[in-house]
Amino acid sequence: MSMIASEDAMSAEADPIGAVLGELPVLTPVRTEHVPLAVRAVVVHARQEWPAGVVCRNDRAPYPCRLARWGRRVLLAAGVPDERINLLVAAGNPYASPWG
Ligand SMILES: [Zn+2]
Repeated sequence: MSMIASEDAMSAEADPIGAVLGELPVLTPVRTEHVPLAVRAVVVHARQEWPAGVVCRNDRAPYPCRLARWGRRVLLAAGVPDERINLLVAAGNPYASPWG
């Protein structure tokens, strides 16, 4: 049976689009086909420093954007450690395996 996981650590309050549309749902247990999509989301929607603040490199929304938050929540729910997610983002390969 699937349930929708909630994650309050990364709020949508700073993201006006997220505030309107809400968080993308994370179905648990995580489906295996969602894991590579989540890796792609966190790598493509990485943070970028601008004089006006930190934004998503892809869509210029305040970082973390909806897809960055979704990807990280999916990977965490799939059992990928936070440190490994940070390494994936730093490596910048959207097709990398989250399992090392
Ligand atoms: Zn983004």
